[in-house]
Amino acid sequence: MNKNLYSPLIFELSQAGRCGASVPSYTYAEATGKHLPDSLTRRAPLELPQVDELTVVRHYTNSSNNNFGVDTGFYPLGSCTMKYNPKINEAMVGRAGIAPLHPLQPVSTVQGALRIYRDLEKALAEIGGMAEFTLNPFAGAHGEYTGLMVIRACLLDRGEHGRRKVLVPDSAHGTNPASAAMAGFEIVEVKSCPDGTVDVDDLRSKLDDTVAALMMTNPNTVGMFEKRIPEIAKAVHEAGALLYYDGANLNPMLGIARPGEMGFDVMHINLHKTFSTPHGGGGPGAGPVGVRAGLEKYLPNPRVAEKPDGTLTVEFGADSFGRVSAWLGNFSVFVKALAYILTLGSENLMKVGPLATLNANYILNALKDLYELPIPGPCKHEFVFDGLRDKSQGVTTMNVAKSLLDYGFHAPTIYFPLLFHESLMIEPTESENLETLDRFIAVMRQIATDAATNPDKVKGAPYTTPVTHPDEDTAALNPIVTYTQLCHK
Ligand SMILES: *Cc1c(COP(=O)(O)O)cnc(C)c1O
Repeated sequence: MNKNLYSPLIFELSQAGRCGASVPSYTYAEATGKHLPDSLTRRAPLELPQVDELTVVRHYTNSSNNNFGVDTGFYPLGSCTMKYNPKINEAMVGRAGIAPLHPLQPVSTVQGALRIYRDLEKALAEIGGMAEFTLNPFAGAHGEYTGLMVIRACLLDRGEHGRRKVLVPDSAHGTNPASAAMAGFEIVEVKSCPDGTVDVDDLRSKLDDTVAALMMTNPNTVGMFEKRIPEIAKAVHEAGALLYYDGANLNPMLGIARPGEMGFDVMHINLHKTFSTPHGGGGPGAGPVGVRAGLEKYLPNPRVAEKPDGTLTVEFGADSFGRVSAWLGNFSVFVKALAYILTLGSENLMKVGPLATLNANYILNALKDLYELPIPGPCKHEFVFDGLRDKSQGVTTMNVAKSLLDYGFHAPTIYFPLLFHESLMIEPTESENLETLDRFIAVMRQIATDAATNPDKVKGAPYTTPVTHPDEDTAALNPIVTYTQLCHK
């Protein structure tokens, strides 16, 4: 623990009798001439910290500086797009016509909000090449669950009760099998080829009349474009199953390729990765789900519908599989997404993919002499190294990741995907400029040099973070999980 960076809790800063607000001390009785019933009055004072205003401001400002985010430094976390989200879109959500809306307001008073909802559905349908979208789900995994429930409803409607399996490639994001299980399916894993793409022979051997769907990510989790999609789509459809697209990270695709045209039947998008909601802070997010024509009626309730006179209503369809959200979902996220799409326009949206891809390939090529590249490039928006090429000094991916923290960079995704032992998965996104990429490359090269010449330095990192290098075994076997334990260390 670095004592200089240790900041006390706000409760420890409390001094009896100190107060941060100066307001006239009227009692309820003085102000209203009425008395509160005894049963409603407080017996003992609230146990709040007693601090002056400046202490509160400094406490939270300093605490926030111990946090790492895209606004403080480069965050090349693969698989979970951590890109810059323009602040103007936050300002849109705070506007007087939007922030105070309540979901229980009569529909006639929220026509503008419903228009935002409907316009975003249409924009996403255009981007995804799908017939219809729902914005209701709250996250990517929630979208997967919703999409799979749509598939289930469709298959049951066709009378196909025997389709109980969902096929998931071994490189898939962990939420894929988890969501399939939540939706009541049995999960069957599909192997990858050495180049990281789906093994089509293995897939064919697993396709039969017990399969409901194949879930795919493209570009996949190792950053490779699945070139055999037309063939895969044909095989899946001939077997009577549906094709699900995990579009959590749509950066490399925007305006360039559309899942609907590749033959996907159902997809989800993470607005909190690609469409201007910060991701990684625990929410709120949104995982809209799109479907091809014919599947719309199974989408979750409620739906926003347009009446012939142009007004909007909220409807409940009879064939829907049910509800996944109270109301219509996380509205603030929709406002940011639509603002992002409209401010960029199709012209600039189409630059996102090529720039994200260029940035990833720039780093890949600048580091592949020092880091092991198991799947040769070019990659799409992200790629995976299998640790250092020179592993003779015992420096691991974990050591490299921790070392990066001392240079002010967030670590890439590590030990995922599980296809390699020392996975180091890098996604720079389209937001970063050349100087930042060059600085990251220089630091990664420095760490590789240190790993060869001064391995103990790398193995002891990080040295500058609020919590430095805990003993990993003790941290796992005997973790300190309460604040008081930490204080008494
Ligand atoms: C992030 C991600 C998910 C899950 O999204 P959540 O919003 O975290 O539930 C699913 N698939 C892929 C490929 C992802 O990157």
